[in-house]
Amino acid sequence: MEDNKLAPRFSRFQNVVLCSITLIFVLFIGLFIPNKYRFMGVIVFLLGLPLIGITVVSTAKKLSVLHCLNVWISIISTAILFLLVPAIMTISYFSHLNDYRTSIPSDNCIQFRINANVKKTGGSGNVGNEWSYKHAINSNQFKSGEIIELNIKNPFTITSTITENDDINDVGTTTSGEYSFSVFGNYSEEIVITNSVRVDERGGRRNSGAYALFSVEYTINRVLPEDYSFFDVYFFTESQTENSFLWGVLFLGLGSLLFIAILFYAYKKRMIKIESERKAEEERKFQAEKRAFIAYLDGRSLRDVAGVPESIRYENGIPVDNNNAEYGSFTVYLSHNGKCYHGQKGCSSAYLPTHFFKAKQHYKPCSKCCYRYYDIPEWHEKYMSLKVSAQKFGIEE
Ligand SMILES: [Zn+2]
Repeated sequence: MEDNKLAPRFSRFQNVVLCSITLIFVLFIGLFIPNKYRFMGVIVFLLGLPLIGITVVSTAKKLSVLHCLNVWISIISTAILFLLVPAIMTISYFSHLNDYRTSIPSDNCIQFRINANVKKTGGSGNVGNEWSYKHAINSNQFKSGEIIELNIKNPFTITSTITENDDINDVGTTTSGEYSFSVFGNYSEEIVITNSVRVDERGGRRNSGAYALFSVEYTINRVLPEDYSFFDVYFFTESQTENSFLWGVLFLGLGSLLFIAILFYAYKKRMIKIESERKAEEERKFQAEKRAFIAYLDGRSLRDVAGVPESIRYENGIPVDNNNAEYGSFTVYLSHNGKCYHGQKGCSSAYLPTHFFKAKQHYKPCSKCCYRYYDIPEWHEKYMSLKVSAQKFGIEE
């Protein structure tokens, strides 16, 4: 129900501005789509762009229609609605993001990746060569490269177990001292712990007394979380003032959405009102015209008003009279190949009778015999137009 008379026509430049607003708005949304949903992001972008574009343009239009604003003021208001709030929210989100990711959650549990690097550093004699290594943090086994979750308030130890597999297994175990996370700054620094392990040959083999020395180096790095909610990051601030400001922006955004919804509703209501006013005006005009028409007829028949001669009767909407020929006085004749109609039967071999009105549409009058009906009579045209009016006003003849 877009009323062209009311809605402004935007210039090419104004349309470019509105398109840019749309593009930036969609890009803001795109920034918050996590990497693993990048494909979905592209789809959102492609589907969202035209949809949001239509919303942006019609918001600008509706603003200018409803508030009789200058077109540029409408476009700037639209930019504020669509860009200011998303811009502030985006800036706060990304300025808090790193602090949020490196902060300690309330349950004190954070994730670490532990890499273990085993090196043989020395020994004596032949212990064997079927080695296997086991690592455990607080007696929970892990593999090198695995991500584990630890409560940073609790101290931890790392135990290295190295085994030479044969009939009688030779095992060496070393448990580190207790480490505590609190000594490692903001947990973003790498922690390196080294265990030295000695494996002695056991049993009655001839290699008895042999041993091997190992050094196991553990590097522990914090793994920053990838999944977090937008609002957790958005509100991640120590400052009470900033927090209040952020709530304000959020309410401004919600208010804007509500405003746009109200705008669209008010616009629709106004259009319905304008449409019904237009219909009422049309109906008023129609009734006035009808009254004027009835007054004009003044009780006379349409034929009388048009001045249709008494001798004429209408058959299928064309006039004929009582003359003997097929269409009465309106009969003219055509030949098979001629380009003229003839008043005289037989002139230039014209024998096919037809109505003058029809013949006139496609043929020229014969210059020799056409001495009458050079034009469609005035009373016929008047009668036809009166009939159209009578039909329009629902008046029986
Ligand atoms: Zn002729």
